[in-house]
Amino acid sequence: MKCLRSYRLLVALAFVGAMWLAWPGGGLFAEEQAGSEMRWWKGNTHTHSLWSDGNDFPEMIADWYVKHGYNFLALSDHNVLSEGVRWKKHDEILAKGYKKALEKYRARFGEEWVETRGTPGQPDYEVRLKPLNEFRKLFEKPGEFLMIQAEEISDKALDKPVHMNAANIQKAIEPQGGKTIVEAMENNLRAVESQARQTGREVFVHLNHPNFGYAITAEELAQVIRERFVEVYNGHPGVGHQGDKDHASVEQIWDIANTLRIAKFHAPPLFGVATDDSHVYDGSPGSRPGRGWIMVRAAKLEPDTLVRQIKAGEFYASSGVTLRSVDYDPSHKRLKLQIEPEDGVTYSTQFVGTKIGYDDSSEPRVDKKGEPVRTTRKYSHDVGLMLATVEGTSPAYQLTGQELYVRAVVTSSLPPVDPSFKDQRQQAWTQPVGWQDQLGRTSQ
Ligand SMILES: [Zn+2]
Ligand SMILES: [Zn+2]
Repeated sequence: MKCLRSYRLLVALAFVGAMWLAWPGGGLFAEEQAGSEMRWWKGNTHTHSLWSDGNDFPEMIADWYVKHGYNFLALSDHNVLSEGVRWKKHDEILAKGYKKALEKYRARFGEEWVETRGTPGQPDYEVRLKPLNEFRKLFEKPGEFLMIQAEEISDKALDKPVHMNAANIQKAIEPQGGKTIVEAMENNLRAVESQARQTGREVFVHLNHPNFGYAITAEELAQVIRERFVEVYNGHPGVGHQGDKDHASVEQIWDIANTLRIAKFHAPPLFGVATDDSHVYDGSPGSRPGRGWIMVRAAKLEPDTLVRQIKAGEFYASSGVTLRSVDYDPSHKRLKLQIEPEDGVTYSTQFVGTKIGYDDSSEPRVDKKGEPVRTTRKYSHDVGLMLATVEGTSPAYQLTGQELYVRAVVTSSLPPVDPSFKDQRQQAWTQPVGWQDQLGRTSQ
């Protein structure tokens, strides 16, 4: 027994040491961690490669994420899985602007690994794109790094993009289409759910960049109850994160949709995801990697486990801020965060929510001629109200029981390493809490 106890102590010390050394990316000394310890895993679920419109080889991209301390990565190309035989014309690769992609690919993985055919410099010169199952072994390590098969189901409705990322799928899913945005979302979700049932796997689907082309309104997002996740931050610079004078910001859309869900539809809110949506890997302007990610709290780095934890809301979204802990105690109705501090950096946390009995009036946004615009309506300030602002690294909020939900957004004094919009600051978004208590109520 004594032996076992000292072994446990050693394991615990090794774990603390590993966390201290490896934080925030994890990865180091992972083999020393006890198998069932809950910890945070860092991952990006929205990534493009040469399999669709990204400008680099999937192995180069996976290598980038491993080297930058991520624990999991989902390559999510448009309407395709990286599987089967696929040769890509070198001219097409050059046309994506990354002139040295092949040269760098060879330098990193060697002549033996890289397969080409045809004559260099000629139109018939092609490079083979390797499927995920062929290259994942180069990167995956138990407890350190995992690749999850994914697709960006890239659909359209009303001529607007309806893009949804499905992670941990086994077969490609064709965009299902629909007469309306809501119908297209519903149809694609049904297709994913049907595959999940057939394969017995946990599948994670998030609605992407609602403000890309100002395609998806808060009211539409609210209606599609079977969708549980939305990108609250997408690192692509062209996705209207902050909205504009005629359009709500993505965070406002999140709050409006969640308020409508809980108050009007008595349905659970959407959880918020941050992703890269990376396309560009040669440093040129555009959607570069490393801007948005999620941290998932789980005992194991394994796809079904991660997805189950995500569905349980055991994760947060980040564009730079790292949290040591996010605790919500339902019996005491207290939401408490511990921020991982950095020297010389200050943190401000806003607790945001909507209260029972809020002013639910809204009006359409109108164009110059006074005609209603197809976009999220204007709501009162009661929706997504700033309930409290707390400075420091241990912010907490005591719910009164009068909130439909409360969420926290932490903003650092530092800009991100590679901002996607002007005056951006590093942030972390935690999931709405307190709503379970409200779902049983009918009064509003
Ligand atoms: Zn997209
Ligand atoms: Zn994308």
